[in-house]
Amino acid sequence: MSPAIHTHADENRLREAVCDIGRSIFERGLTAGSSGNISVRLEDGWLFTPTNVSLGRLDPARLSKLDLASRHVAGDAPSKESFLHRAMYEERPQAGAIVHLHATHSAAVSCIDGLDHDNCIPPFTAYYVMKIGRLPLIPYYRPGDPRLGDAIRGCACRHCAVLLANHGPVVSGTTLDAAVNAIEELEETAKLFLLLRNTPTRPLDERQIEELNAVFGPAGQSG
Ligand SMILES: [Zn+2]
Repeated sequence: MSPAIHTHADENRLREAVCDIGRSIFERGLTAGSSGNISVRLEDGWLFTPTNVSLGRLDPARLSKLDLASRHVAGDAPSKESFLHRAMYEERPQAGAIVHLHATHSAAVSCIDGLDHDNCIPPFTAYYVMKIGRLPLIPYYRPGDPRLGDAIRGCACRHCAVLLANHGPVVSGTTLDAAVNAIEELEETAKLFLLLRNTPTRPLDERQIEELNAVFGPAGQSG
């Protein structure tokens, strides 16, 4: 799939889209307070949601703009978690947008002991397999620790989504809509995982996953 590099002509539309989607995410309770951040790739850099601002109250004119060397060139200061996004963009040239949320059910799963670190949520549904695929668990580091970025770099070329332990998910997509749809699918599947914790389950088997990958392509190779 070709990279979703946005042109200058798209920038204003993307600024509005980031704010509209941020408001929708906040109003539906998918992240709280000033947590969560969104970024989109531009032809000449990136737009990031600013630090210490609720996703529910973003201003298109004040989004942070970084140039191709990751220098802050316009708008408010970027989210302190922007390095998580940059680590993922470095490994995923096809990524056009990244969303990170402290979504309740995904964050709850990220605190469970004994998860499979290579794939921490079972493949319960076809849409989860198609949008997320395998979900690695990134070990806990304190907020801002550069080792978090290093850990993301270590697996992001193979995965469009990662779950940060005791924290929340980081998900990329070829477009902003694709990234948001994928992180919402992840959050819903995390909810299923928690609902089913004490129930014998029947996730999709290897043959069923191979069939999905053959028909729709592996999720980790798209955005
Ligand atoms: Zn976070």
